[in-house]
Amino acid sequence: MPIATTDPATGIVIREYSPHNNDEVDIKIDEARRAFVALKHTDFPKRAAWMHRAADMLEAESEHVATTIVKEMGKPITQARGEVAKCVTGMRFYAEHSQEFLSGHELPRPSVVGASSASVRYQPLGTVLAVMPWNYPLWQVIRFAAPALMAGNTGLLKHASNVPQSALYLDSLFERAGFPAGCFRTLLIPASRVEAVARDSRVAAVTLTGSEPAGRSIGAIAGAELKPSVLELGGSDPFIVMSSADISRAVATAVTSRTSNNGQACINAKRFIVHADVYDSFVDKFVVAMESLKVGPPMDEETDVGPIATSTGRDELHQLVGDARKHGAKVATGGEKLEGGGWYYPPTVITGVTKGMRLYAEEAFGPVATVFRVADRQEALELANDTTFGLSSAVWTQDSAEEAFFVDGIEAGAVFVNGMSVSYPELPFGGVKDSGIGRELSAEGIREFCNLKTVWRG
Ligand code: NAP
Repeated sequence: MPIATTDPATGIVIREYSPHNNDEVDIKIDEARRAFVALKHTDFPKRAAWMHRAADMLEAESEHVATTIVKEMGKPITQARGEVAKCVTGMRFYAEHSQEFLSGHELPRPSVVGASSASVRYQPLGTVLAVMPWNYPLWQVIRFAAPALMAGNTGLLKHASNVPQSALYLDSLFERAGFPAGCFRTLLIPASRVEAVARDSRVAAVTLTGSEPAGRSIGAIAGAELKPSVLELGGSDPFIVMSSADISRAVATAVTSRTSNNGQACINAKRFIVHADVYDSFVDKFVVAMESLKVGPPMDEETDVGPIATSTGRDELHQLVGDARKHGAKVATGGEKLEGGGWYYPPTVITGVTKGMRLYAEEAFGPVATVFRVADRQEALELANDTTFGLSSAVWTQDSAEEAFFVDGIEAGAVFVNGMSVSYPELPFGGVKDSGIGRELSAEGIREFCNLKTVWRG
C-alpha cells in the first residue's frame, strides 16, 4: 500500500509520501534510544508537566487535527472531534496518575525470605515500537504513547499507510511540548519493513493494534527476539438482549455500537443475540433506527455514517454480505454499495446467518449487523462464545441472576451490562483468544512496558 492520504469520501489521492530509507530509519531509532537515556532520568512531575502541555497543545489544535482525521479515514467530523477530546483526556489522566501507578510498594512478610524489607518498583524498558491502525488515527497511538512516555519509555510509531498526516502530527507533538528530542518518532515505512525494526537490538518491546494476521506476525517476531509485546487485535463482539431488557434503550445503543466510527471499531458490537420473546420487536425497531441514520459526507455536521476508509475494505465487507445472502441469509436493510464517488456502504441488518457462512465467523469491519434469535440464556452464551475472538461484549438484562451468568461466562476481555463497549483511560482494555495479548490503559496498561524490579534488603 503506498503511503498516502486518499480521501475516502471521493477516492481522490490528496498527497503521497516517500517512505523513509534505511539510513533515515536508523537515525530515528538512534534518536529514540538516546532520548530514552535522557527521559529515564527525569522525574514524574517533569514528565507530567510536559504531558499536560502536549494535551493543551492538542486541545488548541483540535479542529485542524480532527479535519485531518476526517480527510484521511472518513469518520464524521463530530466523531473526529470526540476522538481528539478523548486523547486530551487520556493524556491528562496519565499525567496525573502515572506516579501513583508506578510508585511500587513494600511487600508483606519480608522475614519469610530472610529480608528486613522487600519491595517492588517499576522502571521503563527503553524504546517501544508501536504498529498502529488507521481507524482511530490519534487515539490508538495516544493510548500507547501517553503511558509509555510517562513511564519513561520512548516510542517509534509505524502508523497505517493511509494516515501519514496524522502520523507526522504525532511525530512532533511531544517534542514541541518539552519532551526530549527523539522521544517519539514516526517511521514512514511499509508493513514489509516492520520486522527489521522490531528485531533491532535498540528496540526493547513492541505493540501492535490491528488485524489478527499482523498480530500473529509481530507476536512471532517478538517471541523469537524475547521482547515483551502487547497485541490488540480484531473482534466480533456479541451484544446480547434478553427479554427483561429495556428494548428501546437497547436498540438505540445497539445502533450506536454497530455504526460509530462508520462501523470500523474493534469494539463495535457486531453480533446481536436476541431472546425469542423480544426478537421481532427488537429487529423491527433496529431496522427502522438503522434506516434513519444519515449516510453522507463526513465533513457534514449532520452525518451519522461516513464512507468506509478504503476501497478494499468496502469490497471485503460487501463480499461477506454477498456470501451470507448466497447461502440463505436475509438482508433486512442495506446490503448494497452506494452509488457515486467515495466508498459508502449503508447501515445493514442481516438475519438468518448460520454456521458455515463467512459472516458467522469473520469480523465485519463496517456498518453491517447480524441478528440471531435464541431460546434461552444458555443458547445465548454458547452463541456469544462461538467465535475465535474475545475482545469485549455487552449484555442487556434487568435480571441479576442472568447478569451474573453472562458476566461469569462470556469469554471476552470486558462485559458491559446495559451499555456498550467503550475504552476509557481508567479501565483496562484488551482481549482474550484471537483478540490479543496484554492490556492497555489504566494501571495495567502503563505497567506492560515496565520492568517490575524486586528489591530485597538484608
Ligand atoms: P492491519 O492491516 O493489521 O494494519 C494495522 C497496522 O499493522 C498498520 O500499520 C499496517 O501497516 C501494519 N501491518 C499490517 N500487516 C503487518 C505485518 N504483517 N507486519 C507488521 N505490520 C503490519 O489492520 P487494519 O485492517 O488496518 O485494521 C483493522 C483491524 O484492526 C480490525 O481487525 C480491527 O478489529 C483491528 N483493531 C483492533 C483494535 C484493538 O484495540 N483490539 C483497535 C483497532 C483496530 P500498513 O497500513 O502499511 O499495511
